Amino acid sequence: MKGIDKFKTAEMDLEFDRRHIWHPYTSLLHPLKVYAVRSAAGVRLKLESGQELIDGMSSWWAAIHGYNHPQLNAAAKHQIDQMSHVMFGGLTHAPAIDLCQKLVSISPEGLEKVFLCDSGSVAVEVAMKMAIQYQHSKGNTNKKKFLTLSKGYHGDTNAAMSVCDPVSGMHHLFQDFMPKHAFMDAPKMGYDYQLRQEDQQLIAQFFAKNAAEAVAFILEPIVQGAGGMRVYAPNYLRLIKQYCIQYDLLFIADEIATGFGRTGRMFACEHAAVQPDIMCVGKGLTGGYLTMAATLCTANVAHTIGRGAAGVLMHGPTFMANPLACAVASASIDLLLRSNWEQKIKDIEQKLTLYLAAANSLDRVKEVRIIGAIAVVETHKAVHVEKAQAFFVARGVWLRPFRNLLYIMPPYIIDAVDLQQLCQAIVSAVQLAELFKND
Ligand SMILES: *Cc1c(COP(=O)(O)O)cnc(C)c1O
Repeated sequence: MKGIDKFKTAEMDLEFDRRHIWHPYTSLLHPLKVYAVRSAAGVRLKLESGQELIDGMSSWWAAIHGYNHPQLNAAAKHQIDQMSHVMFGGLTHAPAIDLCQKLVSISPEGLEKVFLCDSGSVAVEVAMKMAIQYQHSKGNTNKKKFLTLSKGYHGDTNAAMSVCDPVSGMHHLFQDFMPKHAFMDAPKMGYDYQLRQEDQQLIAQFFAKNAAEAVAFILEPIVQGAGGMRVYAPNYLRLIKQYCIQYDLLFIADEIATGFGRTGRMFACEHAAVQPDIMCVGKGLTGGYLTMAATLCTANVAHTIGRGAAGVLMHGPTFMANPLACAVASASIDLLLRSNWEQKIKDIEQKLTLYLAAANSLDRVKEVRIIGAIAVVETHKAVHVEKAQAFFVARGVWLRPFRNLLYIMPPYIIDAVDLQQLCQAIVSAVQLAELFKND
């Protein structure tokens, strides 16, 4: 095999990739084109071809400070010389303690207990197990359901998938293997949408019908991400939280996409001044360096679980509190807090609004939605992903649309010139019929 390496070409590598390596939501029978990246720095991805692309994705909400950041690199290098990992059963370490102190200090009031997880989906699994154990501890063993919103996204593991939107989450594929939960109609879109009487009635009826057998309501506050990039009003959130209190259900905020400033507030719950009982964070937590997430909860939740039959929270992953990830996450939170991030996100929001204004009047565009450092152009027809990607790469930008959604969520360090180029690429793309599917 060694001999072959010498002759190995970039094309052979890509051929191996096509034949043997699964990418997210892809087929090995009909793999989509992928681009090989050599390195990344700031807001630039450098391809193996030598071409540089402006990154408009933050690697799925994660790389909030951009790539190859000197302070995050330094934190990782420092930590790797101490230890990369030790088990968390019976041991603890400064990187975990520092990180959890920071998480508690920036999180909404009341969230003071932290469970460190390996990924966002796991954080959601842990949140759901916390809620079940909490209700069991209180003797509510008849409660067997979660309440959630349609068009939500909470991850790809089984329990997390069971509370994702049934249609876009393809629940029919897994229906025999998945618990059935209760889905409320997705909130009407618009941050400034004024709830009507029918909206309030719908929520009231939903709780009246389902709350008795429910352990918790789980949702993405203010922005529903991968389920449709939908922005909704703080009043919805407030009302749902009120009903959770009334019916004694836990309120779980999945802030994995929205956390760490992305929507203009540190956590999206703050738009409505609601305090979750349980909150999941991930994605931006390590500044996009390593996989790590966390599930925070109140003292009430933690102590009630502790008084239950098991007496312990039944979860403990091998790589729990990985010191390397903790050290980078701590450094990333420090960077954020020292960065005048609120002003930065406000500037990005204004510029996205300005540069995407031209999209509003285009025939193919259904709606433009902007909040914080997130911009979404929803089109009437579905995007042809492979063709659109090729178009964007040719324009020097990295954007990856899905379904009928073209969106930008850049690293917070992006400047106006790069932001404009990303927006212009989208405005140009929606004018090209060949980038859209016909049915
Ligand atoms: C991405 C995401 C998850 C899942 O996180 P992974 O790290 O991909 O497992 C869960 N909830 C929300 C809101 C997300 O955006």
